[in-house]
Amino acid sequence: MITNRPVVGRLDTPPHFPAIEWEEAACPQCGSNSTELFLEAPDPLPPENQGLIFAVVRCCECHLIYTNPRPSPNSISRFYPADYRPHRRASKMRQTRSVHNLYSRLFGRPCQERRGLLPWPKPGRLLDFGCGGGSFLKTMAEQGWQVTGLDAAVGAVEHVRDQHGLTALVGTLPHPDLQPCSFDVITMWHSLEHVHQPLTILREAYQLLIPGGQLIVATPNIASWPFRFFRTSWFGLDLPRHLTHFTPTTLRMILENAGFRLKSLRPLRHSDWLRSSARLAQRHHHGGLLTQTLRWKPLAKLAAWLCYLAGQSDCILAIAERPA
Ligand SMILES: [Zn+2]
Repeated sequence: MITNRPVVGRLDTPPHFPAIEWEEAACPQCGSNSTELFLEAPDPLPPENQGLIFAVVRCCECHLIYTNPRPSPNSISRFYPADYRPHRRASKMRQTRSVHNLYSRLFGRPCQERRGLLPWPKPGRLLDFGCGGGSFLKTMAEQGWQVTGLDAAVGAVEHVRDQHGLTALVGTLPHPDLQPCSFDVITMWHSLEHVHQPLTILREAYQLLIPGGQLIVATPNIASWPFRFFRTSWFGLDLPRHLTHFTPTTLRMILENAGFRLKSLRPLRHSDWLRSSARLAQRHHHGGLLTQTLRWKPLAKLAAWLCYLAGQSDCILAIAERPA
C-alpha cells in the first residue's frame, strides 16, 4: 500500500497537452511500496507544462527519495523540450575542471593530471553513460582513452559520431552491443537521476566493468544546504526529468546494493546552480533579500564555496569499484 498518496502530476492537464502515461513506481532501490510525501513542485521549464505539479516521495523502508507517480518511459521524452539544454551538458566542462581539481587533491601528483582526468595509471576503455554532446568523451579520447558514448537522445549520439568521430550508441543499459567485462571505467555525469530503473542500470554497469574497474557518478544532492534553502525552487529538482533524488547516504546504498565498493564520495560545487535556483525562487515569488543577492555571481560563488567546505554542496561525486 502507498501511504500518504500524493496529489501528483495533477491531471488538470491543459487540453492542448497530449495524454501522458503515468506510472506508480515501487521504490527503485528496495522495491517497497510504502512511501511518504516529501514535496510537490512544478516543472521549472515554462510554459509548456504549466499546471502540472509533480510529487516527490520518500521510501519508508530505505529513505530513497524519488518522483512518484512519474511519466512512463514512453512519455518522459515529452518533458524534454527540443531546446532543452541539460545542465549536465552545459556544466560538464566546469564540472570536469572540478573533478580534475578533486583528483589533484585526492592523488596529489602533477603527473597524474597529465595522464588524464581519471585516477587511472594509463588510458583504458571508457563508457560515458548519458554522453550528451560528447565533450567529455572528446577530452578523454584526446588523452588516449578508447571511448564509447551511450545516450537515449538520437540527436546527441549523431553529434558525437559526426562532429567528434567517436563511437556512440543510442539507448540505455543493458545494451546488446556492449559486452560484459569490456570497460575499465564507466562515467555517469548527471545521468543516473534521469533513469527509471537506476539499480538495474548500476547492476548492468557492474557487469560491463572488469573486476577492479571503476564507476564514477555525479548527481544532485538533495541533502544539501541549497536544497534546504530553496526547497521547491531548487535547480537540482528539475521535475519531472529527475526521477531519483539522491543523498550521500542513498547514493552509497544503491551503489553497494548493485555490488560496488564505494571508494570515495565528495561534494562538487556549482555556483551557477545557486544563481539558477535564486532566479527560479523569484519566479515562484519565494525568498527575500538573500535570494536576490544569490543571483549576483560573486556572492553565489562565495556561497558555493561555503557549502563545499561544509560538505553541503548541491552535487556529489562518487567513485566506486567493482571488487576484484
Ligand atoms: Zn526503498
